[in-house]
Amino acid sequence: MPVWWPPPDGLLRTSAVLQEGAWERALRIKSRTSCHSGRQGSPSVQNKVALITGVTGQDGAYLARLLLGKGYFVHGIKRRSSSFNTERVDELYLDPHEHETRFFMHYGDLADATNVIRLVQQHQPDEIYNLAAQSHVQVSFETPEYTANADALGTLRLLEAIRILKLTDKVRFYQASTSELYGKVREVPQRETTPFYPRSPYAAAKLYAYWITVNYREAYAIHASNGILFNHESPLRGETFVTRKITRAVAAIERGLQQHLYLGNLDAKRDWGHARDYVEGMWLILQQPSPDDYVLATGSMHSVREFVELAFRGVGRMIEWRGTGVEEVGLERKTGKVLVRIDPRYFRPTEVDELCGDPSKARERLGWSHKTSFKELVAEMVASDLESVADARWRRTWAAE
Ligand code: NAP
Ligand code: GDP
Repeated sequence: MPVWWPPPDGLLRTSAVLQEGAWERALRIKSRTSCHSGRQGSPSVQNKVALITGVTGQDGAYLARLLLGKGYFVHGIKRRSSSFNTERVDELYLDPHEHETRFFMHYGDLADATNVIRLVQQHQPDEIYNLAAQSHVQVSFETPEYTANADALGTLRLLEAIRILKLTDKVRFYQASTSELYGKVREVPQRETTPFYPRSPYAAAKLYAYWITVNYREAYAIHASNGILFNHESPLRGETFVTRKITRAVAAIERGLQQHLYLGNLDAKRDWGHARDYVEGMWLILQQPSPDDYVLATGSMHSVREFVELAFRGVGRMIEWRGTGVEEVGLERKTGKVLVRIDPRYFRPTEVDELCGDPSKARERLGWSHKTSFKELVAEMVASDLESVADARWRRTWAAE
């Protein structure tokens, strides 16, 4: 079993054979006659075509699985890279030369308008999920212009493609908006009506994407919706986000491959949920008769410090904190060994101190709520990284970081 794909109940011990067999069955087309050619009217879920930008990312991988399981044809956009970058979706890929498949990947980039228009034209999707983004807040301070191009103008390019191709009545559009929009929060918890106050180039770019989505909905009657998603994590989370950085370090320290974990602001608080639950919410948003904007969150927040403590507790190590500021360290209670240190390099020019969402609207209108608790999320991520640390390839990538 691929270590990065936990079974639906989040338990890693589920039979690999059963998992893979089930997925393969879900991906194969039973008959060519169900092909996505009949474009008139409202297609059944079985015949729907989805286009996912950012399919190679964390959410793209979970969403592609969800939609394939529902019988969709899924077209994903991947970026050209000098090395393989499809690891998160490799399990879904069946060579179309050898198999009948519902999952297709196409080269593309949201910075390239002609490419975006051509892909939308070729695949005539019923639903577009715009997940592609330079999604790392700290990186956005270093690459602000690129972040604006991909995250803000990329969204505009997709919406324009829908308009230029006269697909405004047909396509439903999901925009991956973010709790980072709330930034320096104006009220707690944050809901759909809370004013935004972005605190990074990433959040400022996403602010444009949020409003251009609302504008195209109002100006051209496109079924376009924003999901304002609070942080969601998983074993597939990018390795430089704080949760995954912590769980990888816990695994590496446990296996004797690493001495210390270096972090920035331990007191930042986030409302952390599981990506598997959140992609379900994305889908539900596009199934509503009318477009709208929804907060998806768990409604509780935890600090980075708590995440560290819980992750180390998962491997039987209790952390005690000593010192203050950049001199603060996290010691293992039993041995007195320093495991966590502060590196000011990870402090941000402007920080988002705390985020906590109010998902009431999503609960009432979509029937959505998170299923995975904070504790289960941390346990699943630690278990997965403990398993992958044994992989030789993982060790090589670790050394390169
Ligand atoms: P992720 O793992 O970083 O994935 C981002 C995806 O976008 C990757 O497939 C990446 O391709 C692709 N991408 C980046 N720049 C692109 C470009 N110019 N053209 C085409 N594709 C591009 O992010 P995620 O965690 O899955 O998040 C999905 C979306 O939700 C993002 O828009 C993110 O900003 C937003 N969001 C995430 C969270 C969260 O907590 N995860 C919360 C709120 C909102 P490569 O694989 O080639 O890099
Ligand atoms: P974000 O909420 O999208 O910025 O997600 P991150 O996982 O990147 O960061 C969450 C919080 O953890 C932020 O407030 C960071 O400042 C804080 N943090 C503390 N140490 C680190 C670190 O070493 N890496 C990252 N990425 N974040 C850190």
